[in-house]
Amino acid sequence: MKLQGKSAIITGAASGIGKEIAMTYAREGAKVAIADLNFDAANATADEIHAAGGQALGVAMDVTSEDAVNDGMAAAVAAFGGVDILVSNAGIQIVHPIEEFTHADWQKMLAIHLDGAFLTTRACLRHMYSSGRGGSIIYIGSVHSKEASLLKAPYVTAKHGLIGLSKVVAKEGAKHGVRANVICPGFVRTPLVDKQIPEQAKALGISEADVIKKVMLKETLDGEFTTLQDVAETALFFASFPSNALTGQSLIVSHGWFME
Ligand code: NAD
Repeated sequence: MKLQGKSAIITGAASGIGKEIAMTYAREGAKVAIADLNFDAANATADEIHAAGGQALGVAMDVTSEDAVNDGMAAAVAAFGGVDILVSNAGIQIVHPIEEFTHADWQKMLAIHLDGAFLTTRACLRHMYSSGRGGSIIYIGSVHSKEASLLKAPYVTAKHGLIGLSKVVAKEGAKHGVRANVICPGFVRTPLVDKQIPEQAKALGISEADVIKKVMLKETLDGEFTTLQDVAETALFFASFPSNALTGQSLIVSHGWFME
């Protein structure tokens, strides 16, 4: 098992990509804290992991709240005796053309994606630094960390920002044995994406089938969605990498949608 003896905290892990990463880490022997706004769903995910023989803890956490993040991190550290891996994953999507975006929606997007990443990183680093055992911080970026799309101004802005944050964490964390990297997935069928399909169809004046074919998967090499497992395997790779050589990087998993 690749993560035996490790403890991980994963935000937004009650659903979608975060949940798959949590199940994968638990199968590989990690103790996982399922930190989510939706506490009932977080506990349900933790129950699934227990039923499969793993160790997990549901944690109520709004990643935009300084107190909730600090308290949730402290609860996970107390339960597991430390933290070795943070996956900053919680996220939402709101799509509009820029001229129709409300300031409130812009701020909400940046709060969840960027304030959430900052607050969880800070709380986690304090524990990682004081324990002296180093760690791995993984941000769930997106192809939109590298590329833009119509209707997604705050999302693209925030996802690009995660690359900058990760590079600073890599530089500052190095002397403490902490590495930081970003995963940049293409479209994955989760509630976040399923919600966008009708919204984009309406905003762009096209059918839902065309949103999938001509917008979401248009630039992929094979017309395929990236899967939950594709992203979870990449998160396992970063978390279990055996040295601190792999830091400050971003890895695109998108069926070739974007290449660099
Ligand atoms: P999802 O909707 O399935 O899951 C998101 C989870 O985040 C939910 O459990 C939700 O309760 C939680 N959450 C929302 N706001 C929160 C908050 N303030 N505090 C704590 N938890 C909160 O979405 P997903 O598709 O699995 O997305 C996870 C991450 O992956 C997001 O950062 C998203 O931007 C990114 N991503 C998704 C895709 C995709 O195609 N699905 C592609 C690239 C990147």
